[in-house]
Amino acid sequence: MLQFVKYSYNAELAMSSINFESTYGVITIQDMNVVSVDANYARIYGYQSPEELLSNIDSFLDLIPEEFHVLAYQNYLETVSGQRDPQVHTYTNVDRHDREFTVFSIDHVTEWQGRPALQVTVIDLSPAIQLQNVVREQDKMYHDMIMQSGQGILVHRDFKPLMVNQSWVKLQGGESIEQALKLDSILDLVPKQNVESIYRRYQSVISGEPSGMSNVVENIGLDGVHRFFNIYDNAITWKGQPAVQVVLEDVTQKVMLERQLVHQANYDEMTDLLNRRAIYEWLREHLVSETHLVCMLLDIDDFKSINDTYGHMVGDEVICALADITKRNVEAVGGVAGRWGGEEFIVFIPNASPQISRQVSDQIREQFNQTEFKIDEHIRFNVSVSIGVSDSRACEGTVSIDALVNVTDQSLYRAKAAGKNRVCGDVVAL
Ligand code: GH3
Ligand code: MG
Ligand code: MG
Repeated sequence: MLQFVKYSYNAELAMSSINFESTYGVITIQDMNVVSVDANYARIYGYQSPEELLSNIDSFLDLIPEEFHVLAYQNYLETVSGQRDPQVHTYTNVDRHDREFTVFSIDHVTEWQGRPALQVTVIDLSPAIQLQNVVREQDKMYHDMIMQSGQGILVHRDFKPLMVNQSWVKLQGGESIEQALKLDSILDLVPKQNVESIYRRYQSVISGEPSGMSNVVENIGLDGVHRFFNIYDNAITWKGQPAVQVVLEDVTQKVMLERQLVHQANYDEMTDLLNRRAIYEWLREHLVSETHLVCMLLDIDDFKSINDTYGHMVGDEVICALADITKRNVEAVGGVAGRWGGEEFIVFIPNASPQISRQVSDQIREQFNQTEFKIDEHIRFNVSVSIGVSDSRACEGTVSIDALVNVTDQSLYRAKAAGKNRVCGDVVAL
């Protein structure tokens, strides 16, 4: 027996589904007896042939669930007698093989052996409904995929957010999707100095230029936290209008690690001054482009005895103190300082005048010499440094790194030989 699931007319469903490829079957009934039925009708109701259908039912009512028998009979009587216009209906049934199917039926008054009969044409909407369900499921799948993605997804037009997923909100330190969608412009999340380049990239993506490449950008979240995102952006159509879809992932840790590694590769761990390798690299760039360089070599006086008297730890502190003083004074005039060796430092100041050179070297020497190192209440001591200074213009011909350092080393030697705690060099004479 058929199980009747729904007996209702659904115009929207019927109209939207008729476009799909469907089969239709025809049955003619008189006094609720089936007087003719075609093969399609039989198949829609789960029978292999009209004969099989007819041999399994006594009346048309056997194709209808019991609770609708009265209604169906009434419909028959009123329609064939002309009391009501022929109707259209949508039914969802389960056939004898448990297949759920939906039909759209059209009543039509006809004649059978000289008496009125009701011809019912049914259109099987099941394939259309199945297709609709597949489309709906796919929509839901894509929706879930976007909403549950671990990557942040944003769609915007002229930086006004049109869609964001939960991960985007989380990556921005936001509270809710609604809050994110209220933003006037996501440019507010970009550091000021990057706004122009982000704007240019948007213009090129929206105009259809293939971006292809991902891009690491700095971002200031809704919670004010600076993060780095790797972003992929594409031009898309959103509700009929051009827009840009941005997919982003948090690469803050990776960027920080890379920066740390680059820093470690270039800076001396103890003093945080440039290491020897980085100094050579800096020089390779600047010896070419700068007009001239002032070079200084600094060597702590009698450092061995500090190590011997107070130990290596105290020696390290002394080295760090000179590193700090040197860095501060040199960077103030646009120069760089590096650790050349154990307690030796090297300094370069591009285009420094003799006055600046003299002033910087004297300040370093004085400030270091005035620094008091304290072991305990009773033991305090001061240390001095000797500084050799030279100018790249003092080197003959093309200036090489080694030649410049050599000349400076000779100045340092003179400072040591002249009694230490002093600056020697040729810059003033230039
Ligand atoms: P001078 O006045 O002629 O420069 O004499 P000096 O005793 O300073 O002689 P020198 O420059 O040759 O001595 C350098 C000493 O610095 C030798 C070495 O044991 C020590 N040293 C090198 N690197 C470090 C370091 O990182 N920490 C400490 N504590 N000592 C270091
Ligand atoms: Mg030395
Ligand atoms: Mg020394």
